[in-house]
Amino acid sequence: MIFGLFGGGGKKKDQPKEEEEVDPVRFLGALNGKEANLGANQRLADAGLVPAKDLVTDGLDRRAEVIRVEPKGPAAIVNFVVDGVAYPGPRLQKIEASAVTQILKLLAGLDIKERKAAQTGGIKAEFEEKPYTLFISTTAVPDGERLTIKVINPAIKLEVPTDLGMSGDLKAKVREIAGTKPGLFVACGPAGSGTTTTRFATVRGLDAYTVGIFSFCDLGGKNLVNVTEFKPNEGDDLAATLQRIARQEGDVVLVDPLKNEEVAKQVATRIGELMIISELTAKDASHGLHQLVQWLGAEPVAEHVKGVISQKLIRVLCPDCKQAYKPNPEFLKKAGLPATVSMLYRKPQVTDVPGEQEVCEKCEGVGFRGRTGMFEFIQMTDGLREVLKNGGDPMAIRAQMRADKMLTLQQDALRLVADGKTSLDEVQRLFKAPDGK
Ligand SMILES: [Zn+2]
Repeated sequence: MIFGLFGGGGKKKDQPKEEEEVDPVRFLGALNGKEANLGANQRLADAGLVPAKDLVTDGLDRRAEVIRVEPKGPAAIVNFVVDGVAYPGPRLQKIEASAVTQILKLLAGLDIKERKAAQTGGIKAEFEEKPYTLFISTTAVPDGERLTIKVINPAIKLEVPTDLGMSGDLKAKVREIAGTKPGLFVACGPAGSGTTTTRFATVRGLDAYTVGIFSFCDLGGKNLVNVTEFKPNEGDDLAATLQRIARQEGDVVLVDPLKNEEVAKQVATRIGELMIISELTAKDASHGLHQLVQWLGAEPVAEHVKGVISQKLIRVLCPDCKQAYKPNPEFLKKAGLPATVSMLYRKPQVTDVPGEQEVCEKCEGVGFRGRTGMFEFIQMTDGLREVLKNGGDPMAIRAQMRADKMLTLQQDALRLVADGKTSLDEVQRLFKAPDGK
């Protein structure tokens, strides 16, 4: 680790900066297969390769999922996004940042002469003996080019409901509802919030010994061992394919996202025979259900939609440095936590004594390491059916969810607090964020 997340402020002062032994990242070639000709670009390689390796090594060492470099005036602003939170990275001079951007473009097989048009590509890499994929994108900004590196770490597995952080109760409920035909089960969320992961995990969580599961969708290279891939007949549309699956006595079918009314209507032709599992881009579960009512009408939704699940990620306290404290009963009541909770946890508090603060090596003093999912889950109830028949306004759906004691994101977040997985401060931070991220 080369740069402290808080500018080294937490480390003991008057000591030389520690330089831990971290082997630099290795770049193993462009995803598009283009050979980077470093010999023909010797000056660029001399100027850019070492700082590019330093930057990426530092980012990977700090578990950054995104590294951003944006030139502004004589310097460049560098940001590392770790578990959804942006931290300032090392300072780069504009000329250095430009060399870093250009060499990464070259390594990703992109056109280094093109600096105006947006470009995207990728680099295969290795760090600490693990393979990584670095997605590189560049966009013109007033002071040059902005570089964004999206880091894909294949070691992070989010496959089954447990990986995602679902509670035992929710897992059992999802398994039962999504595994019982007929009906429609939808995972909802904003774009990029992990909705596809939840859709696949829902299917992976089903028991293939008791239900026949087919997929008729883009699996994105994922391997679903308990699922039979269904090949459509040439010229068949989605509705015709679903009809064939129904005839073959399939129980559950995983389909592509309901991206518009037309797709939703084709899927709806078989929700009285099969259990169809899909996803929908929507702000949350109540907005997703509202969208379905608008596309399909209240009656079929009230009759056939069996479950709508939505998720949001929350940071997990670092197990190596989290601090326990005893909450008083009034505080627990105010926070909405059960009175039986005897201990809560938070990230280490900053001490006032200079030089006393030890920085946790595992999380670099952030107090959090990794993220987990919190969920909300809508099940159809008589009360909710009435709400849908009256138009299914998202606010009214939310009110009904509370009345019927369905799981909300806030409640699920409090479960994680009570379990010591996250802190109340972190919950407040997430629910206060204006963009809901
Ligand atoms: Zn820690």
